[in-house]
Amino acid sequence: MDLKDHILALEKEIRELLETLDSQEKLEKFRIDFLGRKGKVTQLSKGLGALSREERPEAGKAINRMKGWVEEALKNRQQTIKARLQKEKVTGERIDITLPGRRTPLGRHHPVTRVSRQIREIFEGMGFEVAHGPEVELDYYNFEALNIPKHHPARDMQDTFYISENVVLRTHTSPVQVRTMEKQQPPIRVITLGAVYRCDSDVTHTPMFHQVEGLLVDKNVSMGDLKGILTRFVHLMFGESISLRFRPSFFPFTEPSAEVDIQCVICGGKGCRVCSHTGWLEILGCGMVDPAVFGFVDYDPEVYSGFAWGLGIERVAMLKYGINDLRAFFENDLRFLSQFQGR
Ligand SMILES: [Zn+2]
Repeated sequence: MDLKDHILALEKEIRELLETLDSQEKLEKFRIDFLGRKGKVTQLSKGLGALSREERPEAGKAINRMKGWVEEALKNRQQTIKARLQKEKVTGERIDITLPGRRTPLGRHHPVTRVSRQIREIFEGMGFEVAHGPEVELDYYNFEALNIPKHHPARDMQDTFYISENVVLRTHTSPVQVRTMEKQQPPIRVITLGAVYRCDSDVTHTPMFHQVEGLLVDKNVSMGDLKGILTRFVHLMFGESISLRFRPSFFPFTEPSAEVDIQCVICGGKGCRVCSHTGWLEILGCGMVDPAVFGFVDYDPEVYSGFAWGLGIERVAMLKYGINDLRAFFENDLRFLSQFQGR
């Protein structure tokens, strides 16, 4: 067989084979078999030596032409396969839009905020408005106008942070009572919610905590009104079945004064460690506004009477959620805070 026939035969073989190349591996094998150093096309040049001087240029050109188109065909085939693989990859990796997305974790309201809101809503429902006052307070409003003059033993009841001789961090929300009465005439129905400060720190005390304070002043206000409003509050906050009792107590700015206990929410009144086996939990302090306080704001105690009450918001949250360490509220541990779901 001369070289020309050999080329034709090889061409036929290659054209048939090309059609079957459907993967990168087959393409590579084809390249080595035909265009590699010992490949069939490459080897054709070796046959040139057997040809006469006249025949060689013609045969050389034929071999080069063949090399050319084989390389070209291989390249085309390669591109076809590459495009097919690309298409398969795109189709295979299509985004599944039915998969649920990753949700951004939502923050929650702090238990103190939740309880503050509940308390506010309960009293707003009874016609009380929210009043505000400064946390850095004058000694006058924090003590004196609340019937606690300098050197009065009642000052020892509270460990005060003094900014200067006459300026303190408010030790209770009560100064807002005086500020409110200074600004407006009765009838008054306000509550104040906010941070208060005392120089104290242990399992049941933190240097900053939150109080709610309420004040109602009008004509013919009696202890019965106070009892009715606080009973309603306790029932809305802890449940209709909770019983409560009023115990005589002392506060410098109310007379008479009382402390309110609720039936222990942990043991239901049977007695447990939380209630020191008494079945009762102290929840708030209250009383009729002392006429001496009215004297500071020029209200006539012969015409007006009123009552005030105050409670610790953390205390309510502890009882409501069964938390036994006050400090948990201020450590900002997400494992603790994330347990309070919903509103
Ligand atoms: Zn108990």
